[in-house]
Parts: sequence; structure tokens; C-alpha cells
Amino acid sequence: MTYDTNNIFAKILRGEIPCVKVYEDEDTLAFMDVMPQAPGHLLVIPKTGSRNLLDADPQVLAKTITVVQRLAVAARAAFDADGVYVAQFNEPAAGQTVFHLHFHIVPRKEGEQTKPHSGAMADGELLKAHAEKIKAALA
Ligand code: 5GP
Repeated sequence: MTYDTNNIFAKILRGEIPCVKVYEDEDTLAFMDVMPQAPGHLLVIPKTGSRNLLDADPQVLAKTITVVQRLAVAARAAFDADGVYVAQFNEPAAGQTVFHLHFHIVPRKEGEQTKPHSGAMADGELLKAHAEKIKAALA
């Protein structure tokens, strides 16, 4: 299992494919998932390439999970959520479809079902509005 530098998130990191950005620092990027399972679904990725958690550098992981926590707190506040689902899949057997380590952050409301994983594409303007809400909660 090797890291393929042509995966879609590597292309986003290189600026070859657009994304709706929520947060960026030297080591980490966070952006809206194009097929959100619930309003506010975002992804956090390290800038250093690894397929997933299994081959990640522990120091990179430590920085990434710190950002995941900050954004989970912000997403919960932004969407007035009752809970936050944080998910991370390793290899196809576990549901991984994009092979650059990423953490899903999905605000959840009591009693509301999530949409399917990798389901329908969301409207770009809506994703931008949701990103702004999370950014405001981060500030
Ligand atoms: P996983 O690899 O954990 O199964 O999920 C990959 C996630 O990336 C899915 O939730 C899917 O909706 C999302 N995704 C796939 N392609 C793109 C893309 O081009 N841009 C963004 N922002 N998200 C994507």
C-alpha cells in the first residue's frame, strides 16, 4: 500500500482542484465535504501525505487531531448541534474512498438521520455559507 500523489486531496493541497476552505495552518487544511452527510460536514487533512492512519507519522497525527478537536468544537457551536460525529476510515474494506488521511467532522442533531456516505453533491454556495459559519465559531 503506497501513497499516490494523484489522489484528490493531494490535488486540493496543490491547488489543482478547488475546495471550500474552513481552516489552514502550516501543517493542516480543513474544507467542506462536497457530499455532506449533514450540514456542516467537513474534512481535516494533514499537508503531509499518508494513505491513512495506518501509515501516518505520529507527530503529524498529533497536530492533525488537535485541529480536529478545535473544528469539532467550532462545528458544534456553528450548527447548534447536539453531538459531533468524527470518523476516519482505513482502506477500502473499512470504507475509505480517498487515499490521503482525513478525518470527517459531522455535526449531529438528536433524532436527525445522516445522509449516505459519498452521496449527493451539495450546492457550492450552501457549502460556502456553512464554511463561514464554522469560521465565525472558530474566531
Ligand atoms: P472516505 O475516504 O473517508 O470514505 O471519504 C472521502 C470523503 O471525501 C467523502 O465523504 C466524499 O464525499 C469526500 N470527497 C470526495 N471527493 C471530494 C472532493 O473532490 N472534494 C471534497 N471537498 N470532498 C470530496
